[in-house]
Amino acid sequence: MGGFKLGGMTFRGLFKEPETIQYPAQQKPAPAGLKGHVVVDVQKCILCGICQKRCPCDAIAVNKPERTWTINRFACVQCGSCVRECPKTCLVMEPTYTAPSTSKHLDSFDVPEAQKA
Ligand code: SF4
Ligand code: SF4
Repeated sequence: MGGFKLGGMTFRGLFKEPETIQYPAQQKPAPAGLKGHVVVDVQKCILCGICQKRCPCDAIAVNKPERTWTINRFACVQCGSCVRECPKTCLVMEPTYTAPSTSKHLDSFDVPEAQKA
């Protein structure tokens, strides 16, 4: 009896759409409530370093002399603390998944000099 049932399931499986998708070429819609990942608007950043101090995971590094803002997305736990504390509102949580990667790396951004009015 069990063998018939299993055989039927296997046979039907030959004609069904696959349950899996070809990620990352295909992607499912983000579920409601997904926290996503941190995105920085470097044009507004003043390199104050508050986000670095508030991050509980040491995922952010602000280098004022070199004018870089760096995040280790593999350490970030999406708590949103940096987003809430940034005085220039240049950080947001974008509700999409971080881009897939084959190796651990840091995302580093150059922060331009402030434009003079
Ligand atoms: S808290 Fe905001 S302005 Fe300050 S370094 Fe971080 S991203 Fe830049
Ligand atoms: S969301 Fe939280 S863990 Fe991620 S970088 Fe910001 S403060 Fe750090």
